Amino acid sequence: MDFSRRKFLGAGVLCQEIPLRPPWAQAESLFQEACTRCGDCVRHCPEGILIQDNASSYPSVDFAKGECTFCGDCVDACPSTALQRHEAEPWPYKAKLNHRCLTEQQVVCLSCAEQCEVSAISWQHQAKKVSKPIINIELCTGCGACVASCPTQAIEVKS
Ligand code: SF4
Ligand code: SF4
Ligand code: SF4
Repeated sequence: MDFSRRKFLGAGVLCQEIPLRPPWAQAESLFQEACTRCGDCVRHCPEGILIQDNASSYPSVDFAKGECTFCGDCVDACPSTALQRHEAEPWPYKAKLNHRCLTEQQVVCLSCAEQCEVSAISWQHQAKKVSKPIINIELCTGCGACVASCPTQAIEVKS
């Protein structure tokens, strides 16, 4: 295996191993140090999108269950410094399309864009083909509203 391949696999494994943490979470190492795994954030999320991993018990976000409204209830409920409000963006997550989008098979689908409150999803018109979605990552808040609406799991939210 050449070096560039090893680097690619290494980065891929790292991305897969770190779950999406609740909004306003500290950097992963600080988060894990501070979080007591009490589950208070999970219990206080009105959208029910936070889960506790069976193995580690650390909280993470499951966008299959819904979207984050950035209400901050999880932060307010957190008794530790694991989640802390700050002025910057609540998290570095953005939506990303994968190859499973129905428009790749020339099937018309508008579901994801209809869910996006900040209109981050627009349509790229293609001659004699179905228009396909494009995500403007400057506008995308990573809220995940588009994720559950997609019938083919073609949208993932990633750091
Ligand atoms: S900000 Fe609100 S909706 Fe988002 S994870 Fe926290 S409690 Fe749930
Ligand atoms: S994650 Fe939220 S803001 Fe981003 S494209 Fe999806 S619905 Fe829009
Ligand atoms: S909802 Fe899914 S399948 Fe439909 S256009 Fe959006 S990404 Fe493609």
